Amino acid sequence: MKNYDMVVVGGCSSGIVAAVNAKRLYSEMKIAVIEKLPRIGKKLLATGNGKCNITNIYALEHDYVGKGFASYAMNRYSPEKVIEFFESLGLICYSDSCGRVYPESNTAASVVDALRFELERLNIDVICDTPVTEIKKTGADFTINGDYKCKKIILAVGGKASPSQGSDGSGYEIAKKFGHEITALVPALVPLCGSPEITKPMKGVRVRNVALALKGQKTIAKTQGEILFTDYGLSGIAAMELAASAQKHINSVKSNPFTCVDFMPEMTYNEIIDYLQNLNKIKGFCTIDNLLTGFLPKAVGIAICKAGNLYGAEKKINELTLKELKLIAEKIKNFPIEISGTKGFVNAQVTSGGIKIDEIDPETMQSKKCKGLYFAGEIIDVDGGCGGFNLQWAWSSGMLAGELKD
Ligand SMILES: Cc1cc2nc3c(=O)[nH]c(=O)nc-3n(C[C@H](O)[C@H](O)[C@H](O)COP(=O)(O)OP(=O)(O)OC[C@H]3O[C@@H](n4cnc5c(N)ncnc54)[C@H](O)[C@@H]3O)c2cc1C
Repeated sequence: MKNYDMVVVGGCSSGIVAAVNAKRLYSEMKIAVIEKLPRIGKKLLATGNGKCNITNIYALEHDYVGKGFASYAMNRYSPEKVIEFFESLGLICYSDSCGRVYPESNTAASVVDALRFELERLNIDVICDTPVTEIKKTGADFTINGDYKCKKIILAVGGKASPSQGSDGSGYEIAKKFGHEITALVPALVPLCGSPEITKPMKGVRVRNVALALKGQKTIAKTQGEILFTDYGLSGIAAMELAASAQKHINSVKSNPFTCVDFMPEMTYNEIIDYLQNLNKIKGFCTIDNLLTGFLPKAVGIAICKAGNLYGAEKKINELTLKELKLIAEKIKNFPIEISGTKGFVNAQVTSGGIKIDEIDPETMQSKKCKGLYFAGEIIDVDGGCGGFNLQWAWSSGMLAGELKD
């Protein structure tokens, strides 16, 4: 049996920074990180399309599900503090116009390397190829897999999203054994499935800036940004941000919601009608498939005309009546796509749901059920949108857990 003062289970985003912060605060402590994969930081390598969107300078506690709970950690380890932390590892960062922060190298491997070197510099043991299957508490001590003993433990094993990168949901079973409740788990930040007969003809087409409203009996959620049509449904950041809400709706109401696309959020319905009427003067002699090419990819324009039952390949723009132009304007502002599900945890970036937040002290990340047990990252019922928000939560909660406060 090997003895440590503290062990972090899970060697990726939240776990690594938890170990680093703990060792910086308590240099005399013997600390280990136990990781099931052959190397630490595998998921980080895949983040931000391989560039690692480290944080978002605009991230605030209300950007998260579980916002009240996230507030203390987010204030204590804010995006500015996170950038300072990475600077302390020699990693220079930049932010884009949306506040998304990346390493100057534009390479996620630089982030993993910086963290790896800090673990090494601080003499933190990194034990890989070791899936933790059992944690037991006897008196004040924890034993892990019967092989390691420690006084404090941080469970930072992630959720269920993207299991090929290690996070397969095993942490929930461990947490349950300590009396924790797990809220409903759904995949988040994942493409939406549905209405392939509408989306397939537009496969591969991106639309840069749409407003999306997810609707059941009433509006469930809204987003704005880019979408990508696929043969199975919708991808792109704006669509993916609706996934958790769509799946929760399907699970609870047992009926499919609709994603209503507004292809021209910056223009009102009347402004669009004026624009369409003006097109008659500019290109009235053209066929109807060219009607909307001034602001939308051709395939989307055709889909909009089809949705209004107005499409006929030979039909000319100057043959459209005002009533028909109004119908097209309506479809531009409200193009419904039925959503039947998502691409699941295998393709999801994040898990929505997790360990119930009421059972964790938000100022320490310590379990209220078991002294000496702390949680960090995605295993907790906190998640945010695309753009660096989820890693920010991993860093904030990980660093806070690493303070090991009672
Ligand atoms: C493709 C992709 C791209 C993403 N891009 C971004 C982005 O650019 N910006 C952003 O903010 N967020 C992004 N995310 C989300 C972000 O990566 C996660 O929210 C974050 O990594 C969660 O950190 P974590 O430490 O809680 O869990 P994880 O990073 O999942 O780490 C958990 C670690 O624990 C290990 N583990 C699991 N079970 C065990 C066990 N039983 N025993 C031992 N070890 C175990 C795993 O192997 C893993 O290394 C992305 C996610 C994906 C999948």
